[in-house]
Amino acid sequence: MKRTARPENVHQATLLRLLRDGGRSRAELGDVVDLSRSKLNVELDRLVELGLAEPDGLAASRGGRRSGRVRLSPRTRFAGIDIGATSIDVAVTTGELEVLGHLSERADIREGPAAVLERAVELVGKLRREGLCSELNGVGIGVPGPVSFAEGVPVVPPIMPGWDRYPVRETIGQELGCPAMVDNDVNIMALGELHAGLAKNVDDFLLVKIGTGIGCGIVVDGKIYRGVSGSAGDIGHIRVDDLGPVCACGNSGCLEAYFGGAALAREAAALARAGGSARLAERLAVAGALTGEDVAAAAAQGDPGAIALIRDGGRRVGQVLASLVSFFNPGLVIIAGGVARLGHVLLAEIRSVVYRRSLPLATGNLPIVLSELGDTAGVVGAARLISDHVYSAT
Ligand SMILES: [Zn+2]
Repeated sequence: MKRTARPENVHQATLLRLLRDGGRSRAELGDVVDLSRSKLNVELDRLVELGLAEPDGLAASRGGRRSGRVRLSPRTRFAGIDIGATSIDVAVTTGELEVLGHLSERADIREGPAAVLERAVELVGKLRREGLCSELNGVGIGVPGPVSFAEGVPVVPPIMPGWDRYPVRETIGQELGCPAMVDNDVNIMALGELHAGLAKNVDDFLLVKIGTGIGCGIVVDGKIYRGVSGSAGDIGHIRVDDLGPVCACGNSGCLEAYFGGAALAREAAALARAGGSARLAERLAVAGALTGEDVAAAAAQGDPGAIALIRDGGRRVGQVLASLVSFFNPGLVIIAGGVARLGHVLLAEIRSVVYRRSLPLATGNLPIVLSELGDTAGVVGAARLISDHVYSAT
């Protein structure tokens, strides 16, 4: 394995992260880092020597001599792998995390780590064969379950049979021959929003992912907050009703057991069979089963039963979120994930509960919005995760 060049000190690491977030002139970099002009130039020259950055012409004059622009090496490549319960997304990005190629396909997490990770590696290989990268500087991976971030392994993940303590980070790092980092899918989505989405200029925010499961990414001061062991934000298993349905985790009445993708599909089928929705009954007869997308489609056509299902779920998410808002006082809440495609009916319900239940001081300046990044949030976030690692002092 070729050793990827890494910054040698904290100043170089800071400079690389600034360049990742947009090319700048030496003078502009001097404005934001706490270094003397000569020391700054020494560090930048060293980054060029290491092959991590390179000169990029001259900046427009700011009144005196024109300052040289610097950018990350255009040969830098990161891979982002976003493994969901029912899909794999893989992308290759530049050092600035611009997506050069993105592949997405259906997959079943229950096939186990060996099969799913092999498929992910094959997809990276496919992008490689398309000429998007020869060497990779690093790969970030998201998986749909709790992850011990320090060890790079999933820990007792409820919807990932066979993955408990599987060495995901080690396996992918060895297969692709580069540094690897693994985190849960919700945290990487939050990083994607921080880098390229609606949270770009927000330091403290929550990202609520409602997909097959439900989780929350917590960003504090521009960084993911993972808690002591990596389980922070696992809100899908907050109990909303003592007598509620049994959840995949073994407890009962969890938020996720009411309104994850699986719960929504089950509720929709029950509603259709009970004669509560003509459109869902029609769809069930044709397809044999229902999905969250079917509920979204029926609601978009004005089906009252489907709309009531979404409102009901939105109300429960809103109740949990109202408590989180009181506790955390975020500057932004982003709703993302497959079920978030239920759209504005869902958003309106969540907003109404949160705004009603949290204190005015917490909600006075609190946008609650739907993600606009779609499937790219996860892969960009995964690339951001590994870039934060590669661009840190060794
Ligand atoms: Zn649960």
